[in-house]
Amino acid sequence: MSVQRVALVCFHTCPNTLVGKGKAGGMNIYVRQLAHHLGAMGIQVDIFTRCHAGQEADTVEADDNVRIVHLYGGPDSAPMDDLVSYLPQFADAMLAYKESEGIEYQVVHSHYWLSGWVGRKVSSQWDVAHAVTFHTLAEIKKQARSGEREHRMRAKVEGDLMASAQLIMALSGQEKQSMARLYDAPEDRISIVPCGVDLSLFRPLDMGEARRKLGLNGERLILYVGRIEPLKGLDLLCRAAAMLEPDEPFKVLIVGGDPDSEEEVSEVRNLGQGLGIADSLQFMGRIDQDALPFYYSAADVCVVPSYYESFSLVALEAMACGTPVVGFRVGGLPTVVQHGQTGYLHSWRCPEPFADSLEVLLGSTGLKKSMGDAGRKRAESMGWDRVAADVLGLYETTMATCGAL
Ligand code: UDP
Repeated sequence: MSVQRVALVCFHTCPNTLVGKGKAGGMNIYVRQLAHHLGAMGIQVDIFTRCHAGQEADTVEADDNVRIVHLYGGPDSAPMDDLVSYLPQFADAMLAYKESEGIEYQVVHSHYWLSGWVGRKVSSQWDVAHAVTFHTLAEIKKQARSGEREHRMRAKVEGDLMASAQLIMALSGQEKQSMARLYDAPEDRISIVPCGVDLSLFRPLDMGEARRKLGLNGERLILYVGRIEPLKGLDLLCRAAAMLEPDEPFKVLIVGGDPDSEEEVSEVRNLGQGLGIADSLQFMGRIDQDALPFYYSAADVCVVPSYYESFSLVALEAMACGTPVVGFRVGGLPTVVQHGQTGYLHSWRCPEPFADSLEVLLGSTGLKKSMGDAGRKRAESMGWDRVAADVLGLYETTMATCGAL
């Protein structure tokens, strides 16, 4: 039997939520793109997520062959730590939904540990394969940055999922290794499937035109794109920016977060003030993906100063737009950025070498162009259609290996 219908579980955040602030980021994009491309291949996809502000318990046709099924999973305002208590209720609602629709799923694919708890329960009731993509893992985050606090059940649930899921998808070889090392995960059930990029949206645009469109002038431009949280390492970005040659004007554009309400944004602003670079930092708030190619193309360099990234869609999007990336050799970043060819990745978390790399790129149009061209070339083999085809192949293989469970 081949895969005809798949249930994607994306419990805590609707894939259609505006990304770039709060908890909505790469995972939302991943689920949206995977569903879109599976749907385009004729697979029926139901994405199960919580109701949220402005969205009652209801099923929405999201794309060809793709529905988003909103079920009650606690009040919209519930803090992340409280969501665990709504998991059983949500799983029961999923079971009831399938009964009422009279349909069969061949695979349940869960995203993040909360969804994994739900996916494990429903897949065992339905006797079908359970696939899990964690996106981030508690033990890796704790190792990457002291100060990361996680729900007390998270690491245990992640370990249980690795022991029970028929298919575990890692976003990089590094993530696979960490799963085996930190969770004793069975390596034969872990497959590496890197993320993708929308190559028709993220493409190189003329830098001058992009800058004009954004109302920017000719100064040196460093771009950060992403949610604003401590793990993203904007502290180091500020410290590195404060070391740049002061006689050459520069701007650090910070895209993402909510400058009006997020405490994390205020902390970065305050740090910038303390370091004397407040005038060089420009907080843009979250920007729709459709407009991001202008930002990537306007920038001389895109920075990913994170303590940890399981993949970094932002790095790949920047490369697809022909912009070099500077970051650290952490998590999945070396899978995306080729050090010395499409950007620079540093092994030590110090602002000086990071600032040196920025100076090198800001000071050489030729280097920026050759690294940018190499980045686009590399990105061209990483479209989401390839990701979806690989994932579908893994669903099929897992079903064949496990038999009809
Ligand atoms: N993003 C966006 N608008 C913003 C900031 C970020 O659309 O204002 C998107 C960005 O294009 C990328 C995703 O959010 O696709 C972030 O994914 P990434 O893997 O870099 O980080 P994560 O959120 O998974 O930590």
